[in-house]
Amino acid sequence: MLADTNTANERPGIEEQYETASNTSDLSVESHRRGAVDILIAAAWSETRLGGALLRLHSEYEGSEKPARMGSAAVDRLAGTLELVDGLTAWREAPDKAPVWLKPTEAAKRTAHQWHLHETALLLQKLKALPEVREQLTIRAAMWGMEDAASKAAGVIRYWLDQTCQSCDGRKFRLIQGAPKLSNRACPTCQGSGVAPVPHGQEGRKLANYLDSCVHRARQGISNRLHNRDG
Ligand SMILES: [Zn+2]
Repeated sequence: MLADTNTANERPGIEEQYETASNTSDLSVESHRRGAVDILIAAAWSETRLGGALLRLHSEYEGSEKPARMGSAAVDRLAGTLELVDGLTAWREAPDKAPVWLKPTEAAKRTAHQWHLHETALLLQKLKALPEVREQLTIRAAMWGMEDAASKAAGVIRYWLDQTCQSCDGRKFRLIQGAPKLSNRACPTCQGSGVAPVPHGQEGRKLANYLDSCVHRARQGISNRLHNRDG
C-alpha cells in the first residue's frame, strides 16, 4: 500500500496492533510477547526522526494561541453566580460524577482549571505533528514494558511542551483564593520552583529524557548537515 493512501480508515488497524502489543500483560507467554515486541520494534522510528517531529511539534505549539487562564476577578464573578445551599455549592468533576460540596470560590477555581485543561486539549488536537509523536512515544513506552503506555505518553508530551506548574501558573507561590495577590507560602505542587513535576514518576522521567535525547540527535543531524554543506 502506498504511503499516500494511508487514510484514516487504515489507522485503527495499526493503532489496534500497538494497543494489543502495549497491553500484553501476560509476559509468561514468551512467544506472544515476542510477537508483540516485534510489532513495536518494526513500528518504532529512529531517535533522529522522532526528534525532527518533536521540533516541528514544538514550533507549532509555540506559534499557536494558548488559552488564557481565567483571572481571579473572573473566578470571583463565576463564584458569585453559583447556586448555594448553606454556603456550599454542588460541584461535579464530570456530568456523570457524584457532586462534592465546596465553597463557591473553590468550586469556581476548579471549574476554571477544568476549562483551561479542556481548551488546552482542543489546542493540542490541532497540532499536526502531535499524532505521530504520541504514537511513537506510546510505542517506546510499551517497548519498555510500561502499563497504560498511551496515557503516560500523552501526559509526558504535554509536560514536555509546557512545564509551567498548573497549580500556581508558574508564579511559585500559593495563590490566595478570591484574592488577586499571592501568599508568601511556596506552591505545594512545585515546591516553589514554578516548574511542574514530571507526570508518572520515574517512568515519566524516562520518557521525558528520551524526548530530550531525540531532539538532541535531530539537532546534531541538522548541524552536521549545515556543517558539511558549508565546509
Ligand atoms: Zn506551583
